[in-house]
Amino acid sequence: MLSYEGVPAPLAHLIEQLSGLPGIGPKSAMRLGLNLLAKEPTQVQQLASALAELHQSMGFCEVCGCFSEHNHCLICNDHRRDHRVICVVEQPVDVLMLERSKTFSGVYHVLHGRLSPMDGVGESQLTFAALAMRLAQKDVAELILATSATVDGEATAHYISQRFHAVPGVNISRIARGVPEGGELEYVDEYTLARALSQRTRWQGSGTNVL
Ligand SMILES: [Zn+2]
Repeated sequence: MLSYEGVPAPLAHLIEQLSGLPGIGPKSAMRLGLNLLAKEPTQVQQLASALAELHQSMGFCEVCGCFSEHNHCLICNDHRRDHRVICVVEQPVDVLMLERSKTFSGVYHVLHGRLSPMDGVGESQLTFAALAMRLAQKDVAELILATSATVDGEATAHYISQRFHAVPGVNISRIARGVPEGGELEYVDEYTLARALSQRTRWQGSGTNVL
């Protein structure tokens, strides 16, 4: 715990706020606070404006649930993407991470969580009903389940597969799990290795097999 003795109240207040951010401890918050104090007032004002506007101007896409500053996000509005393939993820940040891979040209559906009886998260708290509506209204060929590789993530994927497996024309797939890029086998746990072996893909020259 950092002592605020001798620290002027406005700076102490800023440090307290900054240290509530993920990955920033009290000492880092102090350094950031002092750094901001040393900057030109106009620069700090720009940062303050960006923070103040964040919640005013950002919301969620009405279709997929991802971050968006409009009713529909850029991905849902992009007609070059394959709207017949929906990748189901837990959080909006997962969309950003998958987009960074630059390999997926379909669209997304954000659940805003995962089933977790221990934490009191049931099906009504997630966006399954909206997903069911999308499947009923649109011609969807594939649902890719990209929930996390945890017990709750697996349970959520299982629930979706059970709920939607009978929808006509919709194939349900699960993202593969295995050895990470650049990973050496001796550092990979036996469960992951077993999954990597059982979900092996046909060699395609480059060693990758992008669906
Ligand atoms: Zn969207």
